[in-house]
Amino acid sequence: MDRIGQRITDIKSTLPEGVTLVAVSKFHPARAIMEAYGAGQRVFGESRATELVEKASTLPDDIDWHFIGHLQTNKVRLVVPHVNLIHSVDSERLLRCIDTESRRIGKVTDVLLQLHVALEETKYGFLPDELTALLKEGILEETPGVRVRGIMGMASNVDDESRIASDFQAIKQAFDSIKSLSLPRMEAFDTISMGMSHDYPLAISHGSNMVRIGTTIFGEREY
Ligand SMILES: *Cc1c(COP(=O)(O)O)cnc(C)c1O
Repeated sequence: MDRIGQRITDIKSTLPEGVTLVAVSKFHPARAIMEAYGAGQRVFGESRATELVEKASTLPDDIDWHFIGHLQTNKVRLVVPHVNLIHSVDSERLLRCIDTESRRIGKVTDVLLQLHVALEETKYGFLPDELTALLKEGILEETPGVRVRGIMGMASNVDDESRIASDFQAIKQAFDSIKSLSLPRMEAFDTISMGMSHDYPLAISHGSNMVRIGTTIFGEREY
């Protein structure tokens, strides 16, 4: 088996049952994706709209594309037809925009709501209280074109493992408290997307059931 296929197989063998591997293929060519595909991988994550559309249009139809990057509202129309899950819904405006576009093309799009718990100011996302308030106001009853599947979050980009652990804990806590509200249209709220190449084992130990791994599978990205 080739190197990428071997890495996929190795990572999968360490993931507990019920944890989904999203192979983050952004900035990597179709050839690399096809090596992973050859090892049985079907879920791929991309973070740029035009790159996703190009790849989705030319690669096999049974690939399950996820969008994981910051999504500008003017790119929603490009992305929605191709994706099975958008991880990075970081504003009410974006949620409403995905809803509108999905309904226009007769689709219900699965989404995750992105939480901001990290130290960096540049990371996008809702604060936990902000998100709870938005959901309690009943926004999901106004947005039948989206189905909220859960939460996505990133830990602080630091070496301090205890800080990373507390960020993951905060994401898990927000997930649990939102789930316990038992709001209408949240029956499928079951996904916690957290953990990347350098921190996914810790994320899993804090309750993640979807990990987004790029570098460990495909090597360093060339921007
Ligand atoms: C690029 C990216 C990843 C993958 O990061 P690696 O460190 O390469 O595993 C995961 N999540 C998001 C949101 C990303 O943008």
